[in-house]
Amino acid sequence: MTEEYKINWKKCNKCGYKQYNSHLRCIKCKNDSFTSLKTSGLGKLLTYTILKAPPMEFRDNNYYALGVIKFENGVRSLGQLTTTDNLEVGMDVKPIYMKICDNLDGNEIYGYKYKPT
Ligand SMILES: [Zn+2]
Repeated sequence: MTEEYKINWKKCNKCGYKQYNSHLRCIKCKNDSFTSLKTSGLGKLLTYTILKAPPMEFRDNNYYALGVIKFENGVRSLGQLTTTDNLEVGMDVKPIYMKICDNLDGNEIYGYKYKPT
């Protein structure tokens, strides 16, 4: 499995909550001490919705799909899916690091989108 499909997570040493590596403090208890976790990145689509009136940042798309993904290590994440076609609850998805949108200042924003496998 290639590196681009790996997401780094961290687990709060106080309350055990698992979250993205980018947060400096635990979003549950504000603790700042963590243990790193790695996952292969494969997840399952728990639920999804199609947004027909995206926020301004996503003005290039008329609509897109937003899903809740549960990873092998139990972490849940909310993220954009790469397609709106043939989505099924329970399907496997993998994260792809790619451009998500241009923000309102015109800068490109990168992050993970989830692609059905
Ligand atoms: Zn915590």
